Amino acid sequence: MTIQDPAINFCGTKGTLKMMEDIATAFPAVTILRHEPLAHYTHTKTGGPADYLAFPTNIQETKSLLAYAKQSDLPVTVVGNASNLIVRDGGIRGLVMILTKMNTITTDGNRVTAAAGAALIKATQVAQAHALTGVEFAAGIPGSVGGAIFMNAGAYGGEIKDVVVAAEILTPEGEIRTLDHDELDFGYRHSSIQDYHDIVLTATFDLKPGDAEAIQAQMDELNARRAAKQPLDLPSCGSVFKRPEGHYTGQLIQEAGLQGYQMGGAQVSMKHAGFIVNIDHATATDYLDLIGHIQAVIWKEDAVKLETEVRIIGEAPTK
Ligand SMILES: Cc1cc2nc3c(=O)[nH]c(=O)nc-3n(C[C@H](O)[C@H](O)[C@H](O)COP(=O)(O)OP(=O)(O)OC[C@H]3O[C@@H](n4cnc5c(N)ncnc54)[C@H](O)[C@@H]3O)c2cc1C
Repeated sequence: MTIQDPAINFCGTKGTLKMMEDIATAFPAVTILRHEPLAHYTHTKTGGPADYLAFPTNIQETKSLLAYAKQSDLPVTVVGNASNLIVRDGGIRGLVMILTKMNTITTDGNRVTAAAGAALIKATQVAQAHALTGVEFAAGIPGSVGGAIFMNAGAYGGEIKDVVVAAEILTPEGEIRTLDHDELDFGYRHSSIQDYHDIVLTATFDLKPGDAEAIQAQMDELNARRAAKQPLDLPSCGSVFKRPEGHYTGQLIQEAGLQGYQMGGAQVSMKHAGFIVNIDHATATDYLDLIGHIQAVIWKEDAVKLETEVRIIGEAPTK
């Protein structure tokens, strides 16, 4: 293991250094950073530090890190590609595991199995290369496979639930299990992973044979539509709010005159009012203040409760 920044004494206790030594011995291959700003990893480029940030490269390391953290009473937070995440500016206590180094993708007939940290976009490219159709809708979703299962990510009429047959998970108790499609209990931007705090390790998609060129053409078309509508040139977390029944979020925000509204460095995107972009060194607090403001205005004007799709985690900064 590589421990970076060993001079910083986490929480100022000697016990912590002992703990670091223990982790170093237990996980010689894993890089663990201390007091690492998560703004370096989130798509919004905001967020406070993780006490410990580890990058496991395989299932065994993930399992062992979880067991170690449990034994040491360290809370554990799992992150994929951090594309649907706001980490409050006070950061995250305990151990954060970013799974993007766990990223193998294999195929077997019509099935594609991807490790949780694999980029969903890469999984769609592998499917296309094997002339497998069904997951084109996800060609531009910038999350990991694990994050896509967690969120039941979807776009252009498709959702992950349409193609997933099973996911291998690690329970909070440290047990590895396989959940089938029904056990994953998918709903709109929901899966059972959110309810039971499991860690997704792998997911298997069941696809259909297709024509590789036609699949590529469909992916290109959807990505062009995405680029035309979304502010892909600026940091964001995608659609901030879930779609309220009977309404379009972007339209509500636009009609309320909030497009372009700015708090600190965070702005309601001029290109897509459902996005909040980081235009000038925004903090997570700027994002959260702006989200709260939008929710209050839309409630007052339209009596519509806007629920966040983006996941908000971590601690508020101390004053
Ligand atoms: C420009 C842009 C466009 C986007 N477009 C879309 C879109 O079209 N459709 C859509 O659905 N989303 C979209 N998103 C949002 C985002 O890409 C998806 O929600 C994606 O599924 C999140 O995956 P992630 O790996 O980034 O998850 P993260 O942001 O890392 O995490 C999100 C949540 O999932 C949990 N999680 C992540 N990995 C695991 C795991 N292995 N096990 C257990 N829990 C885990 C985290 O704890 C967190 O609570 C967009 C985002 C951006 C920035």
